[in-house]
Amino acid sequence: MGWGLVGHRDAVVQLSRALATGRLAHAYLFTGPKGVGKGALALALARAVNCAADDPPCGECASCRRIGAGKHADVHIVGMDMKGGKARTEISIEQVEEMQRLAALRPFEGRSRVFIVDGAERMSAEAANRLLKTLEEPPPQVLLVLLTANERELLPTLLSRCQPIRLRALAEADVRAALQERGMADEEARRVARLAQGRIGWALAVAADGALLQKREERLDQVAGQAQADREQRFAFAVELGTLFSRNREEARAVLELWQEWWRDLLLWKTGMGEWVTNLDRRATGEAQAAQLGLGEIVATLRRLDATAVALEANVTPRLALDVLALSMPHVEAVTSGQREQPVESLQDGV
Ligand SMILES: [Zn+2]
Repeated sequence: MGWGLVGHRDAVVQLSRALATGRLAHAYLFTGPKGVGKGALALALARAVNCAADDPPCGECASCRRIGAGKHADVHIVGMDMKGGKARTEISIEQVEEMQRLAALRPFEGRSRVFIVDGAERMSAEAANRLLKTLEEPPPQVLLVLLTANERELLPTLLSRCQPIRLRALAEADVRAALQERGMADEEARRVARLAQGRIGWALAVAADGALLQKREERLDQVAGQAQADREQRFAFAVELGTLFSRNREEARAVLELWQEWWRDLLLWKTGMGEWVTNLDRRATGEAQAAQLGLGEIVATLRRLDATAVALEANVTPRLALDVLALSMPHVEAVTSGQREQPVESLQDGV
């Protein structure tokens, strides 16, 4: 099965060559958009360095299978997991210290101890500084893989000590082919490939769990409906999203990204480039909304959505930023004839 990845051939060639010639770095930084497959590549690398076969990773030996199942004692994933029922807001110094404690031990069952730090830009400053010490004097048999979608938010000193590998979004046709290979019907594969925007990881997650797509639809109903909503509904949504932000930051971020995506689509419909929109199946609603909006209004709203995302990341009070957004959103009349309904269900935690 080899690396078992869709796409990212250059990265795989580079890593297998380094492995074959004994020139693997102690630390890598995988960058690329969310859902592009950074985690899958990191796990494949963890399999490769611990695989018993001549041409690693075989995907079949005990080690490969244990890593695939998340049960290998030497492969550790550090990230924004839940802590005491609450979402972490950062990767803490305690997490890094635990990593260092383990890094000092010989591998329990494999050849290399692998640490995958997911969302490395979320490390607190003290956690990042502590990690630097490990990078300066890496223990033997330790491989560190940092993953980030926001390289610029990492400390330059950290960046300089990691070998960078950039993953790019896949071509839509490649994503579609991968989905079809996994048995998805042509029409559905076409649609999911478009929605994936090159994020193969997301597409494969949808192939494995259709509920993800359903959830996306519900969220899209909410954000696309905001321009049609009255003041009260908008503020209610701002409260909901603000609460979600403090409870599950990743999830709230995903909602905001979807909102931005919707307005980019409106811009494309408005400018006659409808074939490029992400949400092709929302054409009737999209075109009707775009027709009621001026180009300047769409551009201004996109800018405000971007500014809101930036403000939230900078830890501005979520309610405040979201209330401002609710107030400034242009209003359009609801499109009713023959449209799907607009269920306004509660946001829920989850993937
Ligand atoms: Zn193997």
